[in-house]
Amino acid sequence: MNSVLKNKYEDVLKNNLENLTLQEQISYVTTHFKNIVFSTSFSYEDQLITFLIKDTKIEIFTLDTGRLFEETYETWNETVTKYKLDVKTYTPDQKELNNFLTSSGPNSFYNSVENRKKCCDIRKVFPLKQAIQNKEIWITGLRAEHSPNRNDMTIFEWDETNQIIKFNPLLHWKTEDLLHAITTNQIPYNKLHKKGFVSIGCAPCTRAIRDGEDFRAGRWWWEDTTKKECGLHIHK
Ligand code: SF4
Repeated sequence: MNSVLKNKYEDVLKNNLENLTLQEQISYVTTHFKNIVFSTSFSYEDQLITFLIKDTKIEIFTLDTGRLFEETYETWNETVTKYKLDVKTYTPDQKELNNFLTSSGPNSFYNSVENRKKCCDIRKVFPLKQAIQNKEIWITGLRAEHSPNRNDMTIFEWDETNQIIKFNPLLHWKTEDLLHAITTNQIPYNKLHKKGFVSIGCAPCTRAIRDGEDFRAGRWWWEDTTKKECGLHIHK
């Protein structure tokens, strides 16, 4: 248990940071914490956060699973070029990935939930653990609109599994406000968003959603479960 950091989290709660503006929240965390990281997948949400923090000391990182869409790589490239940014990149452990591919093949995630979770563990969860190890704050682009499992989340949370404070600045943002901010600030975005893709992950596991479908319907659509998270964000 990281009791020093947990105490700092209690201070965050006492200060009612949820009532501050987004800029004030970012300013608070950069003043009071040293090791802050932000995980980007180059979605609309993450692109706005990148824009807001690009001139701060916050480290931006991404998980390159090796199965991302070409459009995601294009957005990544456009972003680092436009803002002259370093995006720290984490990739799967090659030996583990090779063993998994050797025994199960490249698309075994379609065969069982177990295989899908194993693939997510190797390509995303284990690299994420490396990225947030010994950090104090992990900033995410999570929004409540994207999953019913996120309705009970708060902007600042204690992540017991990873022993880190999570800061979800856009949690209560609505899609139209997000799009307005992207357009107004001419922020580069993933072109797949314009084709019905909402939550964009790996290419074989993400599809566009139809009008009226749940935001999360575009991920692992072949699985019969309501809790379709990949293990990066664990909720009760
Ligand atoms: Fe593997 Fe699909 Fe998970 Fe990506 S989203 S890590 S391809 S199972």
